[in-house]
Amino acid sequence: MPVDKEAYQAIVKELNQKKVTLVAVSKTKSVEEIMELYELGHRDFGENYVQELTEKHFILPKDIRWHFIGHLQSKKVKYIGSFVHLIHGVDSLKLLLEINKQGIKNKRSINCLLQVHIAREETKFGLSEEELDEILEGLPAYEAVDGLTNANVMGLMGMASFTSDSARVRLEFKYLNALFDKYSRHETHHVRIKILSMGMSADYKIAVEEGSTMVRIGSLIFGERQPRPVL
Ligand SMILES: *Cc1c(COP(=O)(O)O)cnc(C)c1O
Repeated sequence: MPVDKEAYQAIVKELNQKKVTLVAVSKTKSVEEIMELYELGHRDFGENYVQELTEKHFILPKDIRWHFIGHLQSKKVKYIGSFVHLIHGVDSLKLLLEINKQGIKNKRSINCLLQVHIAREETKFGLSEEELDEILEGLPAYEAVDGLTNANVMGLMGMASFTSDSARVRLEFKYLNALFDKYSRHETHHVRIKILSMGMSADYKIAVEEGSTMVRIGSLIFGERQPRPVL
């Protein structure tokens, strides 16, 4: 399926006016399709499987900024720690500390976002507000004992309910934006809450209206995805 370049250009124009970053979600898409956008100047791409991401990173130009947007298991951070640009889905202190460890190993700082559970569905990953509070309140103590030298918490990420009820989606984004606002005032050396990653193909317009600074869009640009083959 060819990349919808017109849709891409229109989205980029709209987002640029609002200073919102576009992460083009290329999961399941071929390196040829990714190169079509790359040749238009696009550099931020999102993937949600570690193996697929490492293979694409190996093959594709090294100036691509790879965003890991899926659920990440601690034991897999080591495969992406040397190159990943931003990890969106950090949902535990354990994972954050493992990211820090891989940052140390690779002599770099790894940027990440804490994922907050804002949807009604049980299945979506993410921290509750209480867990988010606990992690962010606890981090200065970790920093003090140099537990967090090579990981930066740059913001929050969330996924709204999968529903056609746009009022519901808007409320969920408003809620995440309120948390973002609360924590953006709460800076420490390795915590600077500046990025708010929310909005996908179906709901990015609402997300931008509700304060998103980074959207993750796949199907509007690359077309519908085939179901992933069961390996
Ligand atoms: C797949 C995915 C997207 C993009 O979904 P589209 O509906 O194709 O835009 C965004 N965020 C996450 C976390 C994803 O897994």
